[in-house]
Amino acid sequence: MSTYLYYTQGILDFQEETTTYSEERLEIYLKRKKHQCPKCRSKDVTLRVLYERDVRGLPMGRIREVHFIYTLHQVYCHRCHERSTEEVPFISHPKARLSNEFERTILELREQVSIRALANYFHLRWHTVKEIEKRYLQHKFATIDTSKVQAVGVDEIHIGHGQANQAYLTIVRDLESGAVIHVGDGKGISALEGALSKLSASKLQLVAMDMANAYSTWFAEHFPQAQIVFDHFHVIKLMNDKLDHVRRRVTAKLDSMERKHLKGLRFVFLKNEEDIPEDNQNILHNLRGKFQELGDAYMFKEALRTIYRVAQDAYQANIALHRWCAMAEKTLVPELKTMAKTIRDRLDGIVSYWTFGHASNASTEGFNNKIRWLIRQAYGFRDLEYFKLKIYQLPQINCEKAL
Ligand SMILES: [Zn+2]
Repeated sequence: MSTYLYYTQGILDFQEETTTYSEERLEIYLKRKKHQCPKCRSKDVTLRVLYERDVRGLPMGRIREVHFIYTLHQVYCHRCHERSTEEVPFISHPKARLSNEFERTILELREQVSIRALANYFHLRWHTVKEIEKRYLQHKFATIDTSKVQAVGVDEIHIGHGQANQAYLTIVRDLESGAVIHVGDGKGISALEGALSKLSASKLQLVAMDMANAYSTWFAEHFPQAQIVFDHFHVIKLMNDKLDHVRRRVTAKLDSMERKHLKGLRFVFLKNEEDIPEDNQNILHNLRGKFQELGDAYMFKEALRTIYRVAQDAYQANIALHRWCAMAEKTLVPELKTMAKTIRDRLDGIVSYWTFGHASNASTEGFNNKIRWLIRQAYGFRDLEYFKLKIYQLPQINCEKAL
């Protein structure tokens, strides 16, 4: 009689009592087949009604709202002499609003369908769908296996406005597999709280990070055997920041006509040399003449990129970087002088990039694009914990397909 409940809805221990249908809403009243003690399975129990529950099941045909209604009992077991609440095997936790089968379907569809679309289609609240996914992600990322991890990258990402601890997240990733190991609130060493226990099982040998932050001290203290690497991606990123600073400073000193001219040509400076079309090369040339500091900064940025392209090993990189610093220090551009100082101060870590393999640059950039995609989806700001869980899931998400 009730096998259809099992085959279509995954409900085994209950049978249908009555059914009512009105306005596209099917209500199936369920009755438990047998009452027993959840601990010893004895049927020698006395029942007490707790309350009536309404759990949504999978849609049936055209009917999207299928409700299972049943009474939950407390049982007193005459063998154990204990009171306990009866189990409901077709839901995932006592407060679940959807059956296991329905939750599983939602999670399967969620890979390719937005929360909003799922909520609309199944007549659910946005919040309900999100909470189902959140529970799943909490469970999935409760423990992360780091036993094979040898190299990690640490990055700060800007996720919005407000105080530092709301505006930033700090992310630790496995540079080989790309897996997210830790997502910490804010930035700075306090954001690494919680990463220590996760990484304690690792075989950490290399940590790639930004030159501007303080994480190197934390890793030096807890993982003294690990080499700190300031990788290609972060060095060039810092150089681009410097270039942008020069551009803004130069722009501020111009009169409105010149400013307009420079603004129109801004794109040229933001590009890498090989990406500038042939007919714009002379614009770049003229810009260098007219705005000398900006021209200098651009050339030094390109020279730094060339070192990464050309240097074969740590020895060559070392010489080239020293030369770069010496030349940068002779310019009249303060941003280049500070960049030279940063490179000299961190030279060991920068050159380690050549010694320890070109571990990370492409994957860091790709991952940052995915983060930006996730921020655009904007669900992070309503529920930060959910947003952080989605970051753990990011390496598995195909952003072009997913929503
Ligand atoms: Zn019992």
